Amino acid sequence: MPQAPLVSPLDLLRTTFGYDSFRGDQGEVIDHVVAGGDAVVLMPTGGGKSLCYQLPALVRPGVGVVISPLIALMHDQVTALENLGVRAGFLNSSQGLDEQRVTEQLAIAGELDLLYLAPERLDLPRTQEFLDRLTLSVFAIDEAHCVSQWGHDFRPEYLKLSVLGERWPQVPRVALTATATPATRREIADRLGLQGARTFVASFDRPNIRYRIEPKQQPLKQLVSLIRAEHDGDAGIVYCLTRKSVENTAEALVKEGIDALPYHAGLPAPVRSANQSRFLREDGVVMVATIAFGMGIDKPDVRFVAHLDLPRSIEGYYQETGRAGRDGLPATAWMAYGLADVVQQRQLIEGSEGNAAHKRQLGQHLDAMLGLCETLRCRRQLMLDYFGEASDPCGNCDTCLDPPVPWDGTVAAQKLLSTMVRLKRERNQQFGAGQLIDILHGRRTARVEQWHHDELSTFGIGAELTDLQWRAVVRQLLAAGLLAVSSDGHHTLQVTEASWPVLRGERTVPLREDAVVRAGSGRKPTASGKGSAAAGELSAEDRELFERLRAWRAETAKAASVPAYVVFPDTTLAAIAQHRPATPDELFAISGVGAKKLETYGDAVLALVDGRG
Ligand code: ADP
Ligand code: ZN
Repeated sequence: MPQAPLVSPLDLLRTTFGYDSFRGDQGEVIDHVVAGGDAVVLMPTGGGKSLCYQLPALVRPGVGVVISPLIALMHDQVTALENLGVRAGFLNSSQGLDEQRVTEQLAIAGELDLLYLAPERLDLPRTQEFLDRLTLSVFAIDEAHCVSQWGHDFRPEYLKLSVLGERWPQVPRVALTATATPATRREIADRLGLQGARTFVASFDRPNIRYRIEPKQQPLKQLVSLIRAEHDGDAGIVYCLTRKSVENTAEALVKEGIDALPYHAGLPAPVRSANQSRFLREDGVVMVATIAFGMGIDKPDVRFVAHLDLPRSIEGYYQETGRAGRDGLPATAWMAYGLADVVQQRQLIEGSEGNAAHKRQLGQHLDAMLGLCETLRCRRQLMLDYFGEASDPCGNCDTCLDPPVPWDGTVAAQKLLSTMVRLKRERNQQFGAGQLIDILHGRRTARVEQWHHDELSTFGIGAELTDLQWRAVVRQLLAAGLLAVSSDGHHTLQVTEASWPVLRGERTVPLREDAVVRAGSGRKPTASGKGSAAAGELSAEDRELFERLRAWRAETAKAASVPAYVVFPDTTLAAIAQHRPATPDELFAISGVGAKKLETYGDAVLALVDGRG
């Protein structure tokens, strides 16, 4: 096999990908892998992981094999590479045998630079024999956290990937993930036999994402006003816990005139793939989904990610919200969170399968998540801290921009807890938040009279707080473990070990005052009116060109049946609108314009800039 001419990764970055320089650790990872080293790469979503294996695959002789669980996205990934002039192919179960054979022949003939492969195929002797026939430049294991059994995306097929190092020890391997906790990191190295690999850990900060968590009151209304006030016409993802709420929410958004689509594992496969495809290909679609949606979605211009239900862990939450703003432009991560979320999640854990240790682990994940919701600190700082990264308050989250007001909730907590203790001691009764709040308020409701709760000594001692405030107290006590929810299905509240020091006055209870929910309470809308945030910084005149470029892009993408960002991302269009290149050389100098795209789209873009298009 003749040695391929050695091109420098930086030259390829410039000519093929159209970028000026490496980001963060990219250059170092690439040098290490090109030299034949193994690597574990931890970078946040949008950090630029793909180049870490794509460039070594282009520089080293042979074909780079990318193991990815995201079968539905392989076609787009390959098209995006082909659009850059990279020879790429994929093999997965969505193809017919003929199509697979063609791709295999291309790989054997040395005519592919990159080959995407579903992990389950590696187990087949046929695939292993096929790979034996190839010159392999690198193995990339994408979404490597899928080997982690306690993680949130476990895929059993991933456990078999240790075969790569055993059967092809001379081929460098690079494992990549956006999941950062030290435990997951260790599991990846252990299970993939990568203990000797060099680990690259990028900063997990995503400074362009503004984090906001609001008390949940009328979630749908809150969501609609967020979209109207700040993200009109933007692409976004709305996460819901259940399939039913996905469907209801999508339907409600459509009624509000928002271009929303549902996505969950219970929808027929053709509907799912059609919806995903519309989200990827068209501008400004809102996807309402369960967490089954999103892994590997590399759409760079998702402007907001909203959570209508509490995620199970900070890890999952950070990964889901990380799907916003991959292009580095301002984006929003917004969540509505309330008492019912805490109750529901605690009960899901209680009722979940698995042993006590597993439940304890789920409980710890939830506690950390609740800590994030109720914190008085900078939210980003807390999350980065969770991933082991020290940072300063960010200035771009709700607690930084609009610091929550702390108040001493000790007395309120004592009133609530002592009511509960009395009910239990004197009458062997337990109740949910609603009845307890009625008692504290001194309301003679039918249920209060039925149970003679107006005879309790704590009846009416809590009239100084509103219902909403009491619910916030209950929620925060639950979040802090100073209260528990019964597992009997009745949502009754119970005191815990930790409640007693509060009752005895040995421990104070600092709480945060819930912000009053305002419609679209973000300080600075990321864009003025309709359109994309990318254009937010542009002058009116440049903006006009930007919109024309976008319209051209939409048509071009549709005609070629590729996602819009595969033609050019918003960042590139905005730079073109601003710099107005007049010659091919000037256009080539714009970030995101490589040789192949210059050739394919150069004339059309220059004509548009010139006003001829
Ligand atoms: P990840 O896989 O880590 O989520 P990607 O590899 O999809 O991230 O990269 C995110 C975005 O950043 C993509 O649009 C990509 O083209 C862009 N990008 C990556 N590296 C660079 C770079 N060195 N310069 C400019 N843009 C980059
Ligand atoms: Zn902050």
